[in-house]
Amino acid sequence: MVVTLIDNVNIMSMDPSQTDNGVLRQTQLWIQDDKILAVGSAGAYSPVPDHRIDAGGKWALPGFIDCHTHLVYGGSRADEFRQRLSGTRYQDIARAGGGIQKTVRDTRTAAPQNLLQHSLRRTRRLVEEGVTTIEVKSGYGLDEQTELTMLNVAEQLGVYLPVTVMRTYLGAHTLPHQYKDNADGYIDFVCNTMIPKIATGEHASAVDVFCETMGFTAAQTERVFQAARSAGLAIKLHAEQLSDSKGAVLAARYQACSVDHIEYLDPNDVPALAEAGCVAVLLPGAFYYLKETQCPPVSALRQHNVPMAVASDHNPGTSPICSLLTCATMACIEFGLTCEEALLGITAYAAQALKLPDKGRLLAGLDADICLWDIEEPADLIYEMNGFRPYCRWVGGRYVD
Ligand SMILES: [Zn+2]
Repeated sequence: MVVTLIDNVNIMSMDPSQTDNGVLRQTQLWIQDDKILAVGSAGAYSPVPDHRIDAGGKWALPGFIDCHTHLVYGGSRADEFRQRLSGTRYQDIARAGGGIQKTVRDTRTAAPQNLLQHSLRRTRRLVEEGVTTIEVKSGYGLDEQTELTMLNVAEQLGVYLPVTVMRTYLGAHTLPHQYKDNADGYIDFVCNTMIPKIATGEHASAVDVFCETMGFTAAQTERVFQAARSAGLAIKLHAEQLSDSKGAVLAARYQACSVDHIEYLDPNDVPALAEAGCVAVLLPGAFYYLKETQCPPVSALRQHNVPMAVASDHNPGTSPICSLLTCATMACIEFGLTCEEALLGITAYAAQALKLPDKGRLLAGLDADICLWDIEEPADLIYEMNGFRPYCRWVGGRYVD
């Protein structure tokens, strides 16, 4: 048993039940092995610490959680970026065989070692700014072998870097070329071949679908949800990014842990999310890169107490951003979140979007994923865009300089 005492520390515990996100000043934080032993004084039973650190008034926050990424892929879409800058629409690029299809080709032909090397570089940027948990989706292989390779590479990110990796199978991301004009046939393959294999081999803990006019219909999405449910996998959804396809209400019916994007979500559909305990994941990076103007219905989400998470959605086409803190600032400026909401969105509510109740908050008994910040107040992290790096951190109770 190893006990660490962080003394003279300011804490923002990110407990959403506290009005001020759980601020405690000039207090103590105790770690025992991989868990938080106590927040504040450990009381009469406090053990003698093996390590004692004087934080000198620095702030302790939970490690950040990026709950929606596509970090593993081959190639670059800089060319497409150039085309979009000169006015070509994303939908038109996709129809001409660019967009996701280009990344699918590049990912299928990339050597796994090469995929790992590039994904590590991107993940390292997130880790450097205090991210201790990431979600990574497949969806650029579409065939069995490449999807499994992507998920295997995602797992290895957590071997090489101090970060917990949650994996999501996104087979229904786009239609592979060989299933052109046979979307239902591809959904058969996703539901009958891939999902049982993913569940049995524990290659991922959740399933996601791109439900959109240029993706999959609500009926096809529902078939994937049914297969995921019978395989015991959690459900997430890319919903209402470019149109109101009624994906979010469908996801709520299947108790999805999150619906992501939701710029076009009808405010009348928000109560269904609240009832299902579904997290709304806001992705301001894609909104920014696509120069969208329709914002998610933040006031309706607030009114119905739907937890709002914020993620980078790092992907090669619509959100090539390797900074969760940048996205947290963007969520405030573009979508009108408060600094406190943005911080909850990359901690407690991001944990909820991944069904990780032991992460995202600094409370006794939870995982000791803690970053120490040399800042005046936590809002500094949102106010100064991408301006700070953690002073030090503990990941699963292990000290990382
Ligand atoms: Zn995405």
